[in-house]
Amino acid sequence: MTFNATELANLGIRNLSPYQAGKPIEEVERELGIKNIVKLASNENPLGLSPRVKEALTATLAGLARYPDANGFYLKAKIAEKFGVRANQITLGNGSNDVLELLARTFVSDEHEVIYSQHAFVVYPLVTQALGAKGIAVPAKDYGHDLDAMLAAITPRTRMIFIANPNNPTGTFLTSEQLAAFIAKVPENVLVVLDEAYYEYVPESQRAPSIDWVQRYPNLVVSRTFSKAYGLAGLRAGFMVTHPDLADLMNRVRQPFNMNSLSLRAAEVALDDIAYLNESVAVNDAGMAQLVAFCEKHELPYIPSYGNFLTIEVGSDAAGLYQKLLQHGVIVRPVAGYELPRHLRVSIGLKHENQAFIDAMEAIL
Ligand SMILES: *Cc1c(COP(=O)(O)O)cnc(C)c1O
Repeated sequence: MTFNATELANLGIRNLSPYQAGKPIEEVERELGIKNIVKLASNENPLGLSPRVKEALTATLAGLARYPDANGFYLKAKIAEKFGVRANQITLGNGSNDVLELLARTFVSDEHEVIYSQHAFVVYPLVTQALGAKGIAVPAKDYGHDLDAMLAAITPRTRMIFIANPNNPTGTFLTSEQLAAFIAKVPENVLVVLDEAYYEYVPESQRAPSIDWVQRYPNLVVSRTFSKAYGLAGLRAGFMVTHPDLADLMNRVRQPFNMNSLSLRAAEVALDDIAYLNESVAVNDAGMAQLVAFCEKHELPYIPSYGNFLTIEVGSDAAGLYQKLLQHGVIVRPVAGYELPRHLRVSIGLKHENQAFIDAMEAIL
């Protein structure tokens, strides 16, 4: 008998490819021997940590020898207050990826189908495949979700539908009306997961009242993150609002300490840090205008984006351009893995960071 690890693995795991994260700054600096790298690759908040959160983190250090609050009492209370829900509707996660995976693990198994869109966030096919379920990638319409086609893809085996709004990596957006009409048509035994990681970047007048809809549709699940507009990507904090019965079931599977003391406290403080949130959005709006103006000047097609990134069609040698940008000290994100081999996704940075990208592009083109 020879040892074969793959044969020991669960079926769904054997053909899984690991999540491809954006290249860390330190790695590129090491490999290329250059400094002052600009990273516009992971949709992080370019403002850095808010001073208020930093102060709260420092104060939390003294208690770190203790286990975190397994139920996240204070953070749930703050989320409940801010979003008008009850604490028993909230599930906390080590980033929203954690809650998305937790939800799938609780409700999906190998006899189910899971629907998502072509070009949608890679975590959806990953968790689906890991559970041995069948993933149904519905062809996109204008790079975004084709909701009618997604409805038509529902079968008796369908257990879950993932929708990212705005979507990553395309930045496409579904209106409140489109979403409402869709959710009303989905059978109650199919969970609709609305992943709103970029919600705060959407102009207020266009945001769907999605969390309010959870009262009306028990099969609707809304997920949010602290990684983007709240600027806490490195701490890992996210949450989900659901019917209390769904939350109760997820809570049975959840690792009791999936959020640590620092992330619990940081997220709680971040929710009240309105000045930082507003500045994040303002910086994003300005940076988006800067990148869009660059694209228009050079007649580079781009996908209009509601997120904190812009996906630009750069042509058949997107991979080569990505490498050249690295050599100019700018990290962006190739999206060939999302069936977008002619595009690069550029996160919105500070003004000088966006300019570094523009300068590098103009030097290369
Ligand atoms: C960035 C992102 C998230 C957030 O992931 P975290 O685990 O909360 O950092 C979730 N969904 C989408 C579509 C994203 O782009």
